[in-house]
Amino acid sequence: MTTYRIVCVKTQHPHRHIVSVGVEGTSATIPVQMMTMATVRYRIDNGDTFETYSPSMRKTARVWKDTCKEPGCTFNVIRSHADAVADNNLDNLRTCR
Ligand SMILES: [Zn+2]
Repeated sequence: MTTYRIVCVKTQHPHRHIVSVGVEGTSATIPVQMMTMATVRYRIDNGDTFETYSPSMRKTARVWKDTCKEPGCTFNVIRSHADAVADNNLDNLRTCR
């Protein structure tokens, strides 16, 4: 079981679906490791944990599997926990380059 910290996201129209994320690397790996949404959801299913970090609150927020909330859309996405604050909300993370 591994905990991954998401540091950036790539989104896609419509609805700004998150299609891939960048997770913080360790000194032993490359700085940011990109993962597709399918990989993230697969790893959550297999017991790994994804989270975001708020520099201002020094708080992490757990990330969960979800589907898009737009009417008629069932796109598989991920969402940060409801108690996430502004700067650890997935919606506010920087865009991966
Ligand atoms: Zn959607």
